[in-house]
Amino acid sequence: MSKYIYSAEPESQIPVILNQRISERGRAKHLYHFLSGNAQAQGIRVMEIDMEGLCSAAVATIAGKKVIGIEKTDSAEEKVFSLAHELSHIHLGHLENHSDADKCERQADFAAGILLRALCLAAV
Ligand SMILES: [Zn+2]
Repeated sequence: MSKYIYSAEPESQIPVILNQRISERGRAKHLYHFLSGNAQAQGIRVMEIDMEGLCSAAVATIAGKKVIGIEKTDSAEEKVFSLAHELSHIHLGHLENHSDADKCERQADFAAGILLRALCLAAV
């Protein structure tokens, strides 16, 4: 049974310049594997699934395990941003405290942007 679920809403857009950086030289797939590998090393399960049009991604605690669902039909760039966004929810403690959902979404977008910019600069 899921305890909490957060979603990256369809209107949660990747800033254009960041999207270009993620796309350069096929970087999106490398970033996605890097982030999902790190997530799984922390015991966070990442699954690409059919989100049935509800959202592009979500995170939940299921039977004590953190699980991130990513829309399988999204572009590689969208998947990278969604994964960074959902990881940010986990690391910002939003699964434990989500009293201000709008603020949590802004914080997760902000943290995802910083993380991905840093990874692009590091040329992961
Ligand atoms: Zn979110």
